[in-house]
Amino acid sequence: MQKIVIIKYGELSTKKDNIGFFLSTLKNNVAKALEGLPTQIKNDSGRMFVYAAEEYLNAVVAKLQKVFGIYEIIIGYKDDSFDIDIISQNTVDLLKKQNFKTFKIETKRSNKNYELTSMEVSKKVGASVLKNIKELEVDVHNPEVLMEIEIRQKEVLYYSQKIKGLGGYPVGTLGHGLLMLSGGIDSPVAGYLAIKRGIRLEAVYFESPPHTSIQAKNKVQELAKKLAVYNASIKLHIINFTDIQESILRNIPNDYLITIMRRMMYRISERIAKRNHSQILINGESIGQVASQTLTSMKCINAVVNIPVIRPLCCFDKLEIIDLAKKIDTYETSILPYEDCCTIFVPKHPVINPTLEKCEEYEKNIDYEALINTALKNAETILINANDETNKYSDIL
Ligand code: ATP
Ligand code: MG
Repeated sequence: MQKIVIIKYGELSTKKDNIGFFLSTLKNNVAKALEGLPTQIKNDSGRMFVYAAEEYLNAVVAKLQKVFGIYEIIIGYKDDSFDIDIISQNTVDLLKKQNFKTFKIETKRSNKNYELTSMEVSKKVGASVLKNIKELEVDVHNPEVLMEIEIRQKEVLYYSQKIKGLGGYPVGTLGHGLLMLSGGIDSPVAGYLAIKRGIRLEAVYFESPPHTSIQAKNKVQELAKKLAVYNASIKLHIINFTDIQESILRNIPNDYLITIMRRMMYRISERIAKRNHSQILINGESIGQVASQTLTSMKCINAVVNIPVIRPLCCFDKLEIIDLAKKIDTYETSILPYEDCCTIFVPKHPVINPTLEKCEEYEKNIDYEALINTALKNAETILINANDETNKYSDIL
């Protein structure tokens, strides 16, 4: 018997027509996640197998737990003998190594030509276990160890150890999106959920030096790095927003500052997305969270773009978002106390129900096309890898 890691795909298996594309993408993503570990990965009839020397298997499992599109990660054994006596002996050998009292054997048989039914295999193997390991008992309802046996075309699999995977779709199978990534709690979580549905992310961050600090920028890079764990690497576009923001501050009535500022962010994001073949924008907006996230505000802000805007958190409560942020390990970074460019210009009474007419009228006070073009021309783009040891990021302008 050979000890291996077996990957089950879950929801993926419903993608009948383009399953080949989904699986080859998953295989590439798995290979990328396991880079540096000596492994061999093979797709075979509804399962993916990862072969590695035993000493690497725990590391393999840890990496696979960060790969979307995997429903279950199984540490199991594979053998090419279909002889029922050998199957029984193998099962006895595996169960002998464990310390427990009750067990159950469950057999699946994708090889329908096999001479015994699933039930017959379970019964024969179960009887053999009882005979050979005297202290064990069968418990069909609540066994301590459920030993599963799969009789397949080319091999028999044995396993009792299953670990839940992240689910979702393999990253890259559902296209590309641009995440508006601030240093806050929400946007990294929104990005994570988009990646989960198979979208490969790039990100854009608006900074306003000297009103925002280098620490705020580092924090966003750190958050991008945390997302890169799931996305392989992330291209982060950094836009200097200072001139636009100062111009807004000088020329726009106080209560509309945020509304207009967000319209500018959307305009720039749409152009970056189109330039980089992203099909959608993603952000961390959540209905009602702040004045700029009422339905009327969202309508006024959204009106400046044609590209679809996905808001994975729009119906989440803040506490639910915080729970997720903790789970994906972005929370502690997000709450570091560095100002981002929204918070320093927050008006006392931001408009809750802005109108499009007023937005358009006020924007006539600014030559925003020129400002946007300059900001885009001066964009800094960096590639952030999950494996970067420190905060050193490579320039790929
Ligand atoms: P977060 O929502 O990420 O916690 P926040 O609360 O500071 O940050 P909001 O004012 O709620 O941000 O803005 C809503 C969304 O707009 C953010 O989730 C993010 O997607 C986007 N956004 C805000 N500020 C920036 C920025 N400086 N750069 C890029 N995107 C931003
Ligand atoms: Mg927010």
